[in-house]
Amino acid sequence: MSTELPAGFAGLIFDNTYARLPDIFFSRVNPTAVPSPTLVKVNRVLASELGVDSAALESPSGVQMLAGNAIPQGAEPIAQAYAGHQFGYLNPRLGDGRAILLGEVTDRNGMRRDIQLKGPGRTPYSRSGDGRAALGPVLREYLISEAMYHLGIRTTRTLAAVTTGHPVYRETALPGAVLTRVGASHIRVGTFEFFRLHNDHHNLKVLADYVIERHYPEIRATENPYVALLEVVIHAQAKLVSSWLQVGFIHGVMNTDNMTVSGETIDYGPCAFMDIYDPATVFSSIDREGRYAYGNQGPIALWNLTRFAECLLPLMAESQDKAIQKAETILGEFSDIFNDYWLVGMGSKIGLSKATSADEKLITDLLQIMRAGDADFTLSFRLLADCTIATTEKFLALFKTGSSTIEQWLDRWRDRIGNERQSPAEVRSAMLLVNPLYIPRNQNVENVLQAAAQDSNYQPFEEMLTVLSQPFEEQDGMEKYSALPPLADAPYRTFCGT
Ligand code: AMP
Ligand code: MG
Repeated sequence: MSTELPAGFAGLIFDNTYARLPDIFFSRVNPTAVPSPTLVKVNRVLASELGVDSAALESPSGVQMLAGNAIPQGAEPIAQAYAGHQFGYLNPRLGDGRAILLGEVTDRNGMRRDIQLKGPGRTPYSRSGDGRAALGPVLREYLISEAMYHLGIRTTRTLAAVTTGHPVYRETALPGAVLTRVGASHIRVGTFEFFRLHNDHHNLKVLADYVIERHYPEIRATENPYVALLEVVIHAQAKLVSSWLQVGFIHGVMNTDNMTVSGETIDYGPCAFMDIYDPATVFSSIDREGRYAYGNQGPIALWNLTRFAECLLPLMAESQDKAIQKAETILGEFSDIFNDYWLVGMGSKIGLSKATSADEKLITDLLQIMRAGDADFTLSFRLLADCTIATTEKFLALFKTGSSTIEQWLDRWRDRIGNERQSPAEVRSAMLLVNPLYIPRNQNVENVLQAAAQDSNYQPFEEMLTVLSQPFEEQDGMEKYSALPPLADAPYRTFCGT
């Protein structure tokens, strides 16, 4: 049994719109109490953004709440129902098997945000799972989601992590933990699929109207808001996934239940950042076919959005044929939209204020040379910035093959940069703002998690979090976080046992 905290505890004022939707959307369920919760960390900056008192969250009552042992009045704990395609196969029964939504709050900017516990025990959707999370994956989500945020990528965020004092059993016994996740919402493509599978057109419309109201109120007044909904979600996802490509992020499990309609990155499981550039890079141990490889994420986004479009068909037009025609036209635009985001984003990485299709070859040629030369993705762009005004030595040293092809490319690039309105020094400054020096490199992440989970040493976790909160700023003495790790080209595998 969870105890009750007073309404407004820690400044959390709940207003739960999702819990007012029809019963079929969720199950009411309380977290399962754990023996001895201990605070790992509260994200004070995020707490303040939410208008939440971090000292109260860090107090014994706050820690009880973050572990699911205490529920503030006004919270209405629910697990959300959804379905989804996993690795291309439909799974009609998913839902929050190890997550419980406490409710919604309005942040300081007037944005509605979900506050959800991840790992708080079993729910009606847990199937054979224990509803729990282990400390390692919780810290991993904390690090990577916050890194993504500071890289300027839309993402759910982490408000806090606590340990439970209770082991979870994966291959071995591991310390259990609960993560507090904050998101624009937790509505997924799979949430729509849930109602499509039930042939429940009424609730499909309820859901679509809810999403429009909550995320895209500007399309309410359009001629056909459901057609507009497909369009805006396509734009949001095209922008999101292209932003992943620009930092070398690989989500790892782009199943439709792990794709939000808000356009935030969600569900950090076997995700990772690529070191050496290779579009075929896959980290997830369960992705044997490379379905979710780095370079396949654009096409997979379209695959998922096609599932989303199928759900909206009954709302898009009176006749099925007309609806299909409309959906096909809109889906047909995805590649151009995605490529435009990609081109402008990648163009900015090489110092172009607004790349056009005429610049595409300059970008793809660089990528090809990086591929052939086994060059590090992040450092290639970061050190290229210096080639505007300084020597090219460090940049060239990233390429394992002879330097003549890359030097020829640099000549072409300098010509192109010469046409920019800015001086070389200004181009360099602009490049340093979009090309991070620090990303959560796999080997560093592993070291940090190991120190925390095995030795209860959180100092490396804290240090890495600090470094990643300013990924574009060179920080004294932090070279180990920017350097290419010695084993960067050894196969790295992340596991789904999150
Ligand atoms: P994920 O791969 O983490 O996105 O999860 C896929 C599905 O499995 C979702 O419905 C999760 O809620 C569920 N799930 C994952 N891990 C657990 C667990 N330990 N206990 C219960 N359900 C889980
Ligand atoms: Mg998921």
